[in-house]
Amino acid sequence: METKYIFVTGGVVSSLGKGIISASIGKLLQARGYKVTIQKFDPYINIDPGTLNPYEHGECYVTADGMETDLDLGHYERFTGIQTTRNNSITTGRIYKTVIDRERRGDYLGKTIQVVPHITDEIKRRMLREEEKDEQLDFVITEVGGTIGDIESAPFMEAIRQLRWQLGRNAVNVHLTYVPYLKAADELKTKPTQHSVKELQSMGIQPDILVLRTERHLDDGMRMKVASFCNVDLECVVQSEDMPSIYEVPVNMQRQGLDAAIMRKIGIPVGETPAMKPWHDFLDKQRNAKREVHIGLVGKYDLQDAYKSIRESLNLAGIYNDVKAKLHFVNSETLTAQNVAEKLDGLAGIVICPGFGTRGIEGKIIAAEYTRTHDIPTFGICLGMQMMVIEFARNVLGYKDANSREMDGQTPHNVIDIMEEQKSITQMGGTMRLGAYECELKEGSKVYGAYFGDERAKVKGEKNTISERHRHRYEFNNQYQEEYEQKGMKCVGINPAASLVEIVEIPEKRWYIGTQFHPEYSSSVLNPHPLFMSFVKACL
Ligand code: GLN
Repeated sequence: METKYIFVTGGVVSSLGKGIISASIGKLLQARGYKVTIQKFDPYINIDPGTLNPYEHGECYVTADGMETDLDLGHYERFTGIQTTRNNSITTGRIYKTVIDRERRGDYLGKTIQVVPHITDEIKRRMLREEEKDEQLDFVITEVGGTIGDIESAPFMEAIRQLRWQLGRNAVNVHLTYVPYLKAADELKTKPTQHSVKELQSMGIQPDILVLRTERHLDDGMRMKVASFCNVDLECVVQSEDMPSIYEVPVNMQRQGLDAAIMRKIGIPVGETPAMKPWHDFLDKQRNAKREVHIGLVGKYDLQDAYKSIRESLNLAGIYNDVKAKLHFVNSETLTAQNVAEKLDGLAGIVICPGFGTRGIEGKIIAAEYTRTHDIPTFGICLGMQMMVIEFARNVLGYKDANSREMDGQTPHNVIDIMEEQKSITQMGGTMRLGAYECELKEGSKVYGAYFGDERAKVKGEKNTISERHRHRYEFNNQYQEEYEQKGMKCVGINPAASLVEIVEIPEKRWYIGTQFHPEYSSSVLNPHPLFMSFVKACL
């Protein structure tokens, strides 16, 4: 089959959940046996979100091949289980950089470089995944960030217009809008949707399918009204009501025939609706998980999206352990030795979150000490692991001034040190240790059991290598390894190529494990991450 292209745009307001709809479309087409990829185009100028503050942009998601990307790629991977790559996350900055680099090389042979056609051509090239032609995909789903009418998204819309012309029936546009409910009038209003579609049409794009986000159910009359005002078939107007969980969205879209509508528009036979049994089994588990487990997230960002993948990984691990994970944000900036007992009271376990810079780190260290000495399950991720290591040095090894070189350039006890290859780096963007690296697990350790099953952990000579994604500049200082081991904190995961310590654990505790990598990036709905599974189990 020739590759088909689905463009997902949004109107009226941002935060409608275009990422979830794109991921759901991907899931539904995948369930029909198609080979799919989902990519995100962001209209901002940053080359990637790696340099963006989480308050601006939420979590930075990292692909296995080491690109710092938009958090929507996390949804794509969690929904479909398909790994994305660096070319699934494109920004205006990257587009311009490619074009400008080409211009400096002289590739344009004296031509004037313009938004149309040079920038739009580069956008089109990426939308068509020209560099990945051998992927042999059935569907490429392209989500464009931002809202229709934004100045900065105009070149992307122009590229879509041209592609639709060029590709004919092999391209469709799914446009997501919002239907607000006005309380005083007790009415749902379709006017913003009509305006948004007009705006899209004024750019030369006729939407094929409308997904209406709404907090209240839209009756057929409403949908008919939208259909006739917007020149869209009634069966192509679907509604996306608020759901108790984002994972209900694909089946809700399937029920309304979103995937079938896309296929009909493209002109491929619709056939039977896939049963999606594993997905439904998961949803049943989710609905039946009534018992709660309370888990604290110790970090500095009081924002849902900042630790998105960690939250989702905990939720998923909870569901597979038949419990509802109730997550509580614990602000590490306000955590003190005096209030730690009170702030962590009632929590069955804590995750010490990743991060950069000194703000809030002492609170993370206090939390690590409290949970270590009270034997509360603790999962340190990246900076969180580093803080566990520092706490252990200060309070068990007796180095009161122990610290990370990131926080203290002078300390003689730099138990966390800058990695050798990072020393000469001056540019900030995309220069960390990024992406998937191998890690060898020590047999008999808790992590080995978590990854390979308790039974296998007993078998000698079994495969013991895992691969996990990283995003950091600092690392456990190997000079201290022996001291740590002697005093009870074991280095149980080692990168074979560079001997870097990737995992520490205190075996005598119920669950006290820190990972230098980010396991949260590789947890998916049908494949929850073994470490999160094991951590949540320990919390119960
Ligand atoms: N700031 C730490 C480092 O660079 C940890 C990074 C992180 O938590 N992702 O090593």
